[in-house]
Amino acid sequence: MLSRSFRMRTFQLTLGVVGGAMLTLVLLGGLGLFGRSTQIDSTQRAFVMAQTSSGDRPHQPDQPEPAQPATPDAEDHTTVTAKKFSRAGYDVTPLPRDEVERLAKRLDAETYRITQKAGTEPAFCGTLLDNKKDGVYTCVVCGLPLFTSEHKFTSGTGWPSFYTTFDREHVVGKEDTTLGMSRVEIECARCTSHLGHVFDDGPEPTGLRFCLNSASLVFYENGQERPPQSMPIETETAYFAGGCFWGIEHYYQKGEGVINAVSGFMQGDIENPTYEQVCANEFGFVEAVMVVFDPQTISYERLLEAFFVMHDPTQLNRQGPDVGSQYRSGIYTTSDAQQAAAVAMVQRLEAEGRFARPIVTEIEPAETFYEAEAYHQDYIETTGRACHVKNPW
Ligand SMILES: [Zn+2]
Repeated sequence: MLSRSFRMRTFQLTLGVVGGAMLTLVLLGGLGLFGRSTQIDSTQRAFVMAQTSSGDRPHQPDQPEPAQPATPDAEDHTTVTAKKFSRAGYDVTPLPRDEVERLAKRLDAETYRITQKAGTEPAFCGTLLDNKKDGVYTCVVCGLPLFTSEHKFTSGTGWPSFYTTFDREHVVGKEDTTLGMSRVEIECARCTSHLGHVFDDGPEPTGLRFCLNSASLVFYENGQERPPQSMPIETETAYFAGGCFWGIEHYYQKGEGVINAVSGFMQGDIENPTYEQVCANEFGFVEAVMVVFDPQTISYERLLEAFFVMHDPTQLNRQGPDVGSQYRSGIYTTSDAQQAAAVAMVQRLEAEGRFARPIVTEIEPAETFYEAEAYHQDYIETTGRACHVKNPW
């Protein structure tokens, strides 16, 4: 149900630690960022830029060499972190070192050499090079989906090649200066197993070529049952409208347990509306945010509380400078339980006298949600614009 555009937009490569800050390479699928003209996804192009960041990536690239299976008492440098989910809904929390070693023990010697010792299989010898079936390529060690058949192409290099990842948070990279070359090695984000390398001579729309070892992958054809470790977690979906969706999306995405927040339009009268049609206040749409969350980590009630912090629910058809019914306050529910919780929340806030005026938020069953154009997604984060929405966390 998640859009492919999310998987394609950014591939972030974390390099080594430089002066305490992570040097990060970001390969951005072009969305009109950095001065380029705005294009649709089909004309995305890869950008490569270096930047520093505090580095909240799951992968710790400078951790020690993985221990041999024969030395199980090796020091464990893994730190305990909160669970981390990718936008595609997979648990990408880094596995503890000892768990990776336990999984790697099951591998044959050649697969162990490639995945745990950054080896490379001979060209034109991998079992998945000529695989033309439709399906998902998962990590041979931990099972995380890494690539899909829809992004596979024939590169002529002798290794399976893809122009983008299954999800940008499933594959990470680090600088590789072996063999007298400067290359970017790619690893599984969850278990740090070596996968191959990424080069910038790939085809449109990304311009990237992810060059894989077949031995690092396990292929599951569409319709074939996958093991639990290769499946997304069970999620719940909620919809909120609190004025312009940029800021609402921005802060929902920051909530712990929120897997994906997406800007879009809903509750209108036509299919596939454009932003211009919604802005013109045609067809009854509202700017809304789809919030996909892990109900084990964050409750729907907590999302509701955040909603009533982020915007003014007493304003009829306006928020801040934005006026019109497309900016109305709304909660669009996907179950009877959500409906009851939303109604109860409004009643509680009214009883508490939280707001000086009556709450005018509409509460309705969710109708079809249409994802907004790509340049609206992650708008605050990618543009650095100020956001007037109050941080609810
Ligand atoms: Zn893995």
